[in-house]
Amino acid sequence: MIDLHVHTWRCRHATGTVAEYVAAASARGIGTIAITDHLPLSPELIARDPSVAAYAMPEAELGAYVAEVTAARDEAAAAGGPEVLLGVEADLYPGNEAFAGSVLKRCAFDVVIGSVHFVDGWAFDDPDRRAGYASWDVRELWERYFDDLIAASASGLADVVGHADLVKKFGCVPEGDLAPLYEAAAAAFAEAAVAVEVNTAGLRKPCAELYPSAPFLGALRRAGVPVTIGSDAHAPAEVGSAYGEARAALIEAGYSSAVVFRSRRAEEVPL
Ligand SMILES: [Zn+2]
Ligand SMILES: [Zn+2]
Repeated sequence: MIDLHVHTWRCRHATGTVAEYVAAASARGIGTIAITDHLPLSPELIARDPSVAAYAMPEAELGAYVAEVTAARDEAAAAGGPEVLLGVEADLYPGNEAFAGSVLKRCAFDVVIGSVHFVDGWAFDDPDRRAGYASWDVRELWERYFDDLIAASASGLADVVGHADLVKKFGCVPEGDLAPLYEAAAAAFAEAAVAVEVNTAGLRKPCAELYPSAPFLGALRRAGVPVTIGSDAHAPAEVGSAYGEARAALIEAGYSSAVVFRSRRAEEVPL
């Protein structure tokens, strides 16, 4: 079992220390866990809306974060525990590439998840900001989100695309055929040589399905995009959550292996 997406207390909206996550992974038989807290947000974004500071670790704590994960990795290795990877989840909305790139360069990450949580500065996945959906045509929102996600994948900053259809989180899904959006994204991800995670957090949200959906996963498989698996845990109790469902969805889509990243290099693991 692998879990390549978990968050700690350091991002201010999750609970649990790195050591508690590693202990939870060990108890659940997870062989490889990547700690992937939210990369600090840009001072420019925080200046525009100070409340977004609660979405990521403060920039001043990046060094302490890396030290905490590295210590837990060494401790687990010495104790025969799970493999611990140093990861991060970066916000790669348009305009943030230079800032994110400069922060990413400072640390020797194993894996970088690239995600889009903001459209025009609106945190569309925050339950407290759901009112924002009222000012969008749902199809236009989806098209814009997918455009931004494709740009994020093409930035060269990320190894893995995070929760690729996050825009469905609260059940706002356009009517009509979504296949062209999925096909275009899958082709772009293949071109960018990024992997996509099967993220089980969607099962715990109003949309009540994996990110990405089965039709999207099928498109990714046909395009030859590699996959990994993450719980997006925001508490140690969620580590490895719904791993069986993620694995079953991958097999159903035709995958026989996933990838993990060590020093930013993909390595295949059988499902
Ligand atoms: Zn989070
Ligand atoms: Zn995320």
